[in-house]
Amino acid sequence: MNYDENKVDEFTLALLYLVAHERAEGMGARAWKGFDWETLNRLYDKGYISNPVVKAKSIAMTEEGFLKSKELFERYFTGEIRTIPLPKFTGAAKKRWNQVPERVRKDIMDTVWCTRCRTGTPMQLLEGAMSGSSLVLRGTCKRCGGEVARVIEQD
Ligand SMILES: [Zn+2]
Repeated sequence: MNYDENKVDEFTLALLYLVAHERAEGMGARAWKGFDWETLNRLYDKGYISNPVVKAKSIAMTEEGFLKSKELFERYFTGEIRTIPLPKFTGAAKKRWNQVPERVRKDIMDTVWCTRCRTGTPMQLLEGAMSGSSLVLRGTCKRCGGEVARVIEQD
């Protein structure tokens, strides 16, 4: 059977959004993997998911994979098109951010002080850069869309 593999990849990736769970901002998500085997292998080759050759019934979606999945799902199945840019990190900032334990990173992303909302709100992460020995995360408040930032000092 001849078919457009790239189109199948795009639709499969879009459908993974429906079965995605354990979403953590900046860290991808997990998704159930009941899809065509060869398609999943191609999505793995493209860097969107973890290696599907594992016993677990779900696969990890990379941050890029999750954001692309959401974008494609909205394009094909909702008619809305809203591209969420992949967070831009400098090399040093990414290294520092990855040193922070995953649970702490998740807490940080869930409660960033928003001056407009006057409370801790979830952050849409846009960029990370080092300022001296501190990591500065910038993004927008998921509640009001205002700009928020979080400084993580060197321990
Ligand atoms: Zn806000």
